[in-house]
Amino acid sequence: MTRQKKVILDVLRSVNTHPTAEWIYQEAKREIPGLSLGTVYRNLNLLRENGEIKELSYGSDQSHFDGRPKNHYHFCCTECGQVFDVPLPVLKTIERKAKAVSNFQITGHRLEFYGLCEECRQKEDKADEEDEEDSA
Ligand code: ZN
Ligand code: MN
Repeated sequence: MTRQKKVILDVLRSVNTHPTAEWIYQEAKREIPGLSLGTVYRNLNLLRENGEIKELSYGSDQSHFDGRPKNHYHFCCTECGQVFDVPLPVLKTIERKAKAVSNFQITGHRLEFYGLCEECRQKEDKADEEDEEDSA
């Protein structure tokens, strides 16, 4: 493993925030000053292909990366775009059930939750309170 790849993987495994490539680049650059964003993307691709990390893409948003390659579930805040782990046990029977109602050879599944994260919910509550004060 190259030093670049190791630093990138270490950065990613040291956080549970599911960062973007840009964020990983900014952090890894502290260790490797000459690092380029292209190198970060290339190494992230290699790590993903080797099953060492996961890429989480949500439509048009930038991809987020996860240093935990084993299947687990995520919550995506529709306001700030942050991605969080949801500590639910993986639904083992769902793939068997999907197979039973189709002819597909199922190799995995992905489940996401959407809504407001704690921080954004609090901001929204506060904004509501302020609206009420204004109209009072
Ligand atoms: Zn949020
Ligand atoms: Mn995760």
